[in-house]
Amino acid sequence: MIHLELLGAHTRLLSPLCARCPQGSAGCCFSPPPVDWSDIGRIVALGGRDFLLARIAAGHLQPTASGLRILRVRRRERPTDRRQNKCVFHGAEGCTIDHTLRPATCNYYVCEDTFQERAPPREDVQGEASTASGDEAVVAAVTAARRAHAALHTLYTRWDEALAVRIAAGWPEGPPWDAAFLDWLGEEQRHLEAQAGPLEALRP
Ligand code: SF4
Ligand code: SF4
Repeated sequence: MIHLELLGAHTRLLSPLCARCPQGSAGCCFSPPPVDWSDIGRIVALGGRDFLLARIAAGHLQPTASGLRILRVRRRERPTDRRQNKCVFHGAEGCTIDHTLRPATCNYYVCEDTFQERAPPREDVQGEASTASGDEAVVAAVTAARRAHAALHTLYTRWDEALAVRIAAGWPEGPPWDAAFLDWLGEEQRHLEAQAGPLEALRP
């Protein structure tokens, strides 16, 4: 059953379905999300500035107009696997980097299949709402997960827009991608998170 790890703005949605993903061994890491401004600020604020600098230098993270792009590579993890394009950070057992170093989308996105997994029908064959306690627990978990997903998507979109304006004003030619810029972004992200106040739906 889908479940939440409540960590405020760093909340994670987790599903056992991902370990046997119907989309294949790389799951949705087949196509990694962008690392937006708010993601970069979040990673720096959580202590990952040097990780970002090292991965930018290695070409695993590539600057774009709206943040960073994660390199996709074509490889297989076992001789019996077929080669496939996927995120450079994806390994044989899934993601190889800590959740604090990922784009927030990697932590809060799950596909519709995970919401549907083991979800009971809304009504039984007689048209009566199910009252089984197990079913109610699944429905409650799915409802909480959908609410968290929507709240996080709204929050990070708003933060990206705010940061994009500040970066365009401060670096009209584009940011320098050095330690000082990343530290500034981390500090801006800390302020935005503080201004957001307690996130009731996402409170640990
Ligand atoms: S969220 Fe869906 S597509 Fe992505 S790994 Fe999990 S089951 Fe697969
Ligand atoms: S950073 Fe990790 S979770 Fe995100 S796409 Fe890459 S391998 Fe998947």
